[in-house]
Amino acid sequence: MKFSQYRFVPELETNLETAGFKKPTDIQFKAITPILKKEDVLAIAQTGTGKTAAFAIPVIQLLATNTKKLQPGEVRCLVMVPTHELAIQVADVFRQFVQGLDIQVLGLFGGTEQDPQIEQLKKGAEIVVATPGRLFDLESQLVIHLEQVEILVLDEADRMLEFGFLKDMRHLVKKLPRFRQTLFFSATINENIKDLAYGLVRHAVRIQISPKDKVSKNIDHFVSYIEMDHKRFFLESFIFKNPEAKILVFVRTKVRAERVLNAMERVDIKTETIHGDKEQEVRTAVMERFKSGTNKVLIATDVSARGVDIPNVDFVINYDLPDIPENYVHRVGRTGRGVNRGTAISFCSEEEKEVLKEIETFLQKPITILDIEKKDYKLTVDLTMDSTKDWRTLLKEQEKLEQSLKGKPHKKKK
Ligand code: ADP
Ligand code: MG
Repeated sequence: MKFSQYRFVPELETNLETAGFKKPTDIQFKAITPILKKEDVLAIAQTGTGKTAAFAIPVIQLLATNTKKLQPGEVRCLVMVPTHELAIQVADVFRQFVQGLDIQVLGLFGGTEQDPQIEQLKKGAEIVVATPGRLFDLESQLVIHLEQVEILVLDEADRMLEFGFLKDMRHLVKKLPRFRQTLFFSATINENIKDLAYGLVRHAVRIQISPKDKVSKNIDHFVSYIEMDHKRFFLESFIFKNPEAKILVFVRTKVRAERVLNAMERVDIKTETIHGDKEQEVRTAVMERFKSGTNKVLIATDVSARGVDIPNVDFVINYDLPDIPENYVHRVGRTGRGVNRGTAISFCSEEEKEVLKEIETFLQKPITILDIEKKDYKLTVDLTMDSTKDWRTLLKEQEKLEQSLKGKPHKKKK
């Protein structure tokens, strides 16, 4: 099957070609046809399998073949996503594929000024990609009207229906027309959320791709047992051994992120952090630098990285194990995307062994152990630059002491 066989509008066909999309991925192959037939769809497919295009392509085709004049603030397709980063990214994918068509795409997310977004809304936007918080605000101010929405998409659907978002989501869904098309896309779905999800769709077509293996076959993932206090030495040594690699490091909290950054700074390793405490503009800039490779090591919390498509991440390091087992899948899924391969390594301390078990239960299989021999472990802890520096400092002090004893300046060796 090739994209050319779908007989999309010529602009869309050209845009797919320009993007280098020749054949649909599994999830695209299974989702595009029912979406074109205006069915509701509930789709589960691993991260990195091309879910964005699986809904973006047929949505654009539907809108392009049935044009409508929009009043200010009206929207035809509403895509809901959990984070700012994802709103930017998904809007970009839509923008890439609507080139040449008379379809406007708008991203609505918090942390930036509302006014420019409101101005855009006044001009009308067929496709809006939004985070619940900002959409809720704009809807309350009556600058966006959801009564004309024909298609509702929930990307990272399970996350969207979790407690933190549920109130906003419930409110917003009430504003939508009852007769609409609803599309759910997610890499994971748990039992609690299934019921909620079913409540929002009508006779949905259910699509599930390779449910057996939650982690894509393109990803080799391992766990190493490393004590909490030693993790920074192992991260340092890992970065040192892979100087050209693009590495995404996950930590449990914002505070930990800054702490790891400081630890790396002390040994002259340049890293950046991304988490919810940072201003949106800073987050966007940090993400850009990591995407472009200007910065090669990014330290992130779970929230800031879900669904984000970063080209060519060589390694994911779980510096801390995720508290929520399914986040393991989302984290390691940042590497090995599309046709690329990737590697993920988790640092598991004694205290985290319980969490590791929970993750393995969720994955329904054990994670391969990457054994570190005792002597190598000791060597890594002893020989990292951090300790070398201490050693150097000691030496300097010793030199100074000698100088003062001899009463003359110490001569440097050639
Ligand atoms: P998911 O949402 O499933 O995690 P994305 O939609 O972010 O995955 O897509 C992952 C990567 O695969 C993106 O870089 C995207 O451009 C690429 N991709 C998706 N579909 C295709 C395709 N049919 N051909 C080539 N590359 C694709
Ligand atoms: Mg996605």
